Amino acid sequence: MKSFSYVSAPDVATAVRAIAEPGAKFLGGGTNLVDLMREDIERPDVLVDITRLPLTEIEDLPGGGLRIGALARNSKVAAHPVIRTRYPLLSQAILNGASAQLRNMATVGGNLLQRTRCLYFYDGASACNKREPGSGCAAIGGFTRNHAILGASESCIATHPSDMAVALAALDATVEVESTRGLRRIPLTDFHLLPGSTPHLETALAADELVTAVELPALPVAANSRYRKVRDRASYAFALVSVAAALETTDGKITGVRVALGGVSAKPWRAREAERVLLGAPATEESFRRAAEAELAPAVAQPENTFKIELARRTIVATLRQLLTDGSAA
Ligand SMILES: Cc1cc2nc3c(=O)[nH]c(=O)nc-3n(C[C@H](O)[C@H](O)[C@H](O)COP(=O)(O)OP(=O)(O)OC[C@H]3O[C@@H](n4cnc5c(N)ncnc54)[C@H](O)[C@@H]3O)c2cc1C
Ligand code: SF4
Repeated sequence: MKSFSYVSAPDVATAVRAIAEPGAKFLGGGTNLVDLMREDIERPDVLVDITRLPLTEIEDLPGGGLRIGALARNSKVAAHPVIRTRYPLLSQAILNGASAQLRNMATVGGNLLQRTRCLYFYDGASACNKREPGSGCAAIGGFTRNHAILGASESCIATHPSDMAVALAALDATVEVESTRGLRRIPLTDFHLLPGSTPHLETALAADELVTAVELPALPVAANSRYRKVRDRASYAFALVSVAAALETTDGKITGVRVALGGVSAKPWRAREAERVLLGAPATEESFRRAAEAELAPAVAQPENTFKIELARRTIVATLRQLLTDGSAA
């Protein structure tokens, strides 16, 4: 591991001043960053420890939304009574990720900014445009079981590994960020970037910006919501495909719906085409199928992950079917 200097920031002002130093990097729970430093993939000159910042609270917002501090631990967010009742898909998504020990350490900000799990990204001997721009992509033509089927490019076919971010994409969440220039808000669906020809640029966050909070709007449809994750092992594995969805029906018609997909793209994939097909349609298996077809129409698979397209379709249908049953029972 490369040597670095260490700053423990007592407040946000100190943290954003420290991050303005060239080569500086924030340390949240450290569960991803420290592994990457050990592998010599991340090589910060200055490590700005933000764990003492007063950004751990989860607070009600006027109008019924919720503000989750960026330093709130994943386990605290998942267990929060308001999140469990008003946004159950968020609680379920977090509990489907990593392990209890990791969730006790991992923070909301760090979870959003965790790096891809593409094997070649971790292997310093392989070409990787994300790790070293312009070097090529060893995944294309390589082992691609876990790679993207939506929004990929000729430069990179990696997926974003976060479960939590998929739920946040479905919930119309907003990311609050701060720097020495002030504060701004970024819709979660615009926070992560598709790779295009610059896969090393992963988010809309500038190098000197700190994520300070995630805000959830009041969203009554989210009370009937679920997160369904399909993976190779029952626990401790990243998603092959996941679906975060919420459904509201009135007199047999769909009057509210949110769908987002994980494990399929470099960003949490808000399934807007599926939502367009579903809104106002009869709440039936046939509508769910049509919506899943429409969303997956532009999907492009790699030789080893063709199965993901059908898996994503079926997981969308199964999640919506379950929500229809849950909603009728409520
Ligand atoms: C074995 C294992 C299994 C896992 N399985 C899953 C899984 O199934 N699903 C899943 O979703 N995740 C999984 N994870 C990933 C885990 O969720 C992440 O490691 C964790 O969420 C990262 O949070 P952290 O606070 O530890 O981030 P850190 O490691 O501290 O930071 C990660 C990145 O975010 C930056 N950062 C941190 N906080 C901020 C901030 N406030 N503002 C700006 N930048 C910031 C850091 O500089 C760094 O670049 C797994 C991890 C491991 C090790
Ligand atoms: S898919 Fe992306 S992260 Fe993986 S090797 Fe290719 S460029 Fe690197």
